[in-house]
Amino acid sequence: MLTVEQAQAVVMRSLSPLPAERRPLLETLGCVLAESVVARVSLPPFDNSAMDGLAVIAADTTAATTEAPRRLEVIEDVPAGARPERGVRPGTAARIMTGAPIPAGADAVVIIENTRPGPSGTVDVITPAKVGDNIRPAGEDIAAGVEALSPGQLLEAGELGLLSALGRTEVSVIRRPRVSIVTTGAELVQPGEKLRPGTIYNSNQVALAASVLRAGGEVVQCRHVFDDEAALEEALRSCGDADLLLTTGGVSVGDYDFVKGVLARLGDIKLWRVRMKPGKPVAFGEVLGRPLFGLPGNPVSVLVTFEMLVAPALRLLAGRKDCLPVTVAATLLSDIRHKPGRREYCQAITRYLDDGYVVEPSKKRGSAMLTATIGANSLLVLPEESKGLCPGERATVVLLGRGGDEL
Ligand code: AMP
Ligand code: MG
Repeated sequence: MLTVEQAQAVVMRSLSPLPAERRPLLETLGCVLAESVVARVSLPPFDNSAMDGLAVIAADTTAATTEAPRRLEVIEDVPAGARPERGVRPGTAARIMTGAPIPAGADAVVIIENTRPGPSGTVDVITPAKVGDNIRPAGEDIAAGVEALSPGQLLEAGELGLLSALGRTEVSVIRRPRVSIVTTGAELVQPGEKLRPGTIYNSNQVALAASVLRAGGEVVQCRHVFDDEAALEEALRSCGDADLLLTTGGVSVGDYDFVKGVLARLGDIKLWRVRMKPGKPVAFGEVLGRPLFGLPGNPVSVLVTFEMLVAPALRLLAGRKDCLPVTVAATLLSDIRHKPGRREYCQAITRYLDDGYVVEPSKKRGSAMLTATIGANSLLVLPEESKGLCPGERATVVLLGRGGDEL
């Protein structure tokens, strides 16, 4: 049976980043940039005031004090968005607002708090200004012609703001992975319908779709099939333009576990069974030319295998560099037992406290107990050989939803 690391290596080896496409900026949040963005304008595009105040010639304010202010004639008002019409000459000043262009001749801005109204048409400067005070020179952020963002850059709110500041409305990014989800099981009923004896609600569909969205993918299709090989095959054949297929259930060794059979018949199985708990009976392979994860049926197993195997795959498809989940060391707050054998991932809440991370594992450990996930932001790792951990011991924790290049 493969270790988690071996399974991750198999998955990552068999995938490569998707092609790029142009998208409106707001649709690229969390995507990877696929072009080099060169600034077409300087930022800021012109020298402008960083404060509301008075554009002056610094030399005119030398030795100004409250008792001996320097009186200047106000020649005009320059609000943001206006163009100064007159130059500032010795003995004069222009009222200026934050973001407004610096008038010709001025070399400093005195903030309003350092001025006092003078007799009509004048203002008194009560604190000296130095050349350059409160002026944001053109290009101090970035000069026109310089590369602002390189291919491979992850786009978050700040980068999207920068692209907007440069006047862009669209940008070329690696396409979001399109995912098709097929849940299996004759005992499953869609939420909203009536439960019959022996049936339960299909919770994997929504949990998995949410996981895909959270990981930056798109859900192009959600289907449910009973435990029927032909129905599964039909669902996999009609999954449109998906880049990745996900199934849940039917991948174990029970009488109705037919996912592997379909995988073997329509493609090839690259891995089956990983030394992890929950999530052992996970499969990965290729069906009809598309990668497919056969995830287990139990709802918590689905979430754990998603985190450890599917999310890294989605990151790789999306062009991210550091795709594997991020781990940190944390101090355990309560004790936890473990049967040596498989590596166990327990739903847990990790916080930063005083001078380091602390982790509280959920008391619920069953692979079907979804309440274990309430508030969980991490997975506590119990190593294969461990018999358990005591409060105060250090443990490895996987931070949910984080690849390495996000930190
Ligand atoms: P299986 O691997 O198909 O035998 O499923 C293992 C367990 O997970 C069974 O108890 C199933 O009822 C449960 N299960 C499978 N699929 C789902 C689903 N979509 N939603 C909730 N529970 C499921
Ligand atoms: Mg089943």
